[in-house]
Amino acid sequence: MKVKEFPSLSKENEDKLVVDLLNWSLGNGLTMYPPNFQPHSAIHAPVTLYPTPFPKQEYEKLVQVQKTFNELYLNVVKNKKWLLSILTDLAKFDSQFTGKLFETYLKAEKFGIVQPLSLGLFRNDYMFDSADGVTGSIKQIEFNTVSVSFGGLSPKVGALHDYLNKLGVYNDKTSKQYYSPGEIPISDSYKKLALGLYQGNYYYNNKVENTDTIILFVVQPNERNCFDQRALEYELISQYGIKSVRMTLQEINDNVTIDPSTKKLYTKSTNDEISVVYYRSAYAPSDYVDDSCWEARYQLETTQLIKCPTLLTQLSGAKKIQQILTNKKEIEQFLPTISSSQLDKLLETFVKIYPLDDSEEGLLAKKLIAENPENFVLKPQREGGGNNIYKENIPGFLETLPQEEWAGYILMEIITPPSFKNKIIREGKIYEEEIISELGIFGTILFNEETGDILENDNSGWLLRSKFSSSNEGGVAAGFGCVDSLYLYD
Ligand code: ADP
Ligand code: MG
Repeated sequence: MKVKEFPSLSKENEDKLVVDLLNWSLGNGLTMYPPNFQPHSAIHAPVTLYPTPFPKQEYEKLVQVQKTFNELYLNVVKNKKWLLSILTDLAKFDSQFTGKLFETYLKAEKFGIVQPLSLGLFRNDYMFDSADGVTGSIKQIEFNTVSVSFGGLSPKVGALHDYLNKLGVYNDKTSKQYYSPGEIPISDSYKKLALGLYQGNYYYNNKVENTDTIILFVVQPNERNCFDQRALEYELISQYGIKSVRMTLQEINDNVTIDPSTKKLYTKSTNDEISVVYYRSAYAPSDYVDDSCWEARYQLETTQLIKCPTLLTQLSGAKKIQQILTNKKEIEQFLPTISSSQLDKLLETFVKIYPLDDSEEGLLAKKLIAENPENFVLKPQREGGGNNIYKENIPGFLETLPQEEWAGYILMEIITPPSFKNKIIREGKIYEEEIISELGIFGTILFNEETGDILENDNSGWLLRSKFSSSNEGGVAAGFGCVDSLYLYD
């Protein structure tokens, strides 16, 4: 195994590379809105100067297990009785959000859910658990079932690094390519995620090509990561002729109508029939600014639309479910025909995750927190970053909570990824700090929530995000992290 060092450039050559990088980024939409949002002015997305090394074999293993993970989550959703019993408990611990999502599901279920088909655009996040960067294995951080981001920008970072390599600016004294062909792969994530949405449209129309029905993107107001989402929209219209429309949760009630007899949804202004709703919002409490947002979520759930995701599929991504699914017996229950070698591959990606209840495992977890909190991260049932409690902060945090509420959290072993001396460029400024990376593998599944029938199940590319190793969380838009690409080594 031979891993190339990062390119080492003179200050002058690095300055030149930065100009090439910024021009390419702005020229190709590797962009975001800056914090002071103005619709006419974008800025380059924070990226690394160089691709970050990642072991090729491990990457290939993750790609290979993704469809099985997709299927695992479909079976969780299909096994409604089991899922509902877990969610009933979780709802008590997090009545403000998980509880409200669950309540909204129950209300929709009572009224009548007419569309059994469900679309999942998932992302399975991992880190390389290896202090020395060579030995170790890839471990799962979390499985995301709602609003997975950066499928749009990821291919562009790969293309940017590939361009800089081909241009020869990764070498100091020659203009030869620094990385060999095949060492910088380019993710096909926006093409594959858009294909998933296209398939949703196709199945909505009973397996007929139809470019009259459109796709609804539910987004956050003044979304800074708009171009990441737009990449999917541009692909939908250029490849498939399918239009999309963007609305915030709050805008839905005033801008759509539901035909009460057919349960079909139409835009008010243009009377376009909507086939699929794709949520790039609605995963955090702050997305539901008032009751109209909850009402909109409920209303959409009861229509003919194919939801990406449905409330149940979204809720299946709860951290609690992830904890339960690290148990071999549980996986065997959900995937009874899984081969033992494939099962082993799934299990190999898990670190230990404990419940914090009164079970034997829960009691052990409480003991471990008291003895070695530095080995753990504590997670509530929330999404979107900034919610976890790390290491030494765990005991003090738990003391502020009544013991009965602890069971709403899971305790996960800390994964220690190797750090690299890559460089990050953010708002034109270069940061030279040790970085650590998180690899997300995208997967798409279209399935029937009632029967469990799988209509489509596919791999959908990948994403590498990096952050300063000094920061616990890696939100790119939040200012901690950046988008990166892979340098795959054997
Ligand atoms: P969220 O739903 O908020 O995205 P995550 O489980 O993905 O929650 O955690 C957020 C971030 O915290 C991750 O992106 C990762 O950087 C860090 N993190 C989470 N779990 C671990 C872990 N077991 N070991 C090390 N870092 C972790
Ligand atoms: Mg995450």
